[in-house]
Amino acid sequence: MRGGVIIPRGSASLRSRPPSPSTRPLTQPSIGKRHTRQRTEIQRLIEAADGPLTIEEIHDRARPTLPRIGVATVYRTVKLLLASAQIQGLVLPDGVTRYERAAIGHHHHFSCRRCEKTFDIDVCPLSIPRGTTFPGGYIVEDHELTLYGTCPSCAKPIELRGRAR
Ligand SMILES: [Zn+2]
Ligand SMILES: [Zn+2]
Repeated sequence: MRGGVIIPRGSASLRSRPPSPSTRPLTQPSIGKRHTRQRTEIQRLIEAADGPLTIEEIHDRARPTLPRIGVATVYRTVKLLLASAQIQGLVLPDGVTRYERAAIGHHHHFSCRRCEKTFDIDVCPLSIPRGTTFPGGYIVEDHELTLYGTCPSCAKPIELRGRAR
């Protein structure tokens, strides 16, 4: 039989080699690195979106860069981003939770009845300033508003959309 390397017991070359602190962490962090990448990518796509995204929409958008990501991982990553206040969740009247970046400022949502996507709109059509008091003593502090209609891509004539076949 060939190929067996016999190492003498107690050989000095094997005995006194403490695990080097610079090489030891290299095996484990591959998991940590993957998590960091997932987190960075999901945060990036939420920030780049033109409206708040559902878990399914986040999953769809993450797949080109993270092909093996599952819905459960998306959900877990979203929870982490919520916990660190980098994103916020909102529930629109359809009852579905969507996620958007936390520091987004005052804005409203436009929900397309055809594709069911939700978009941010910067205009505030409601001219009731904060502090307005309604009869009976109801002091307005904030408001939420969702507009419904047709988004630009759904509003395109059908023959234009059908061309790309
Ligand atoms: Zn649409
Ligand atoms: Zn407003």
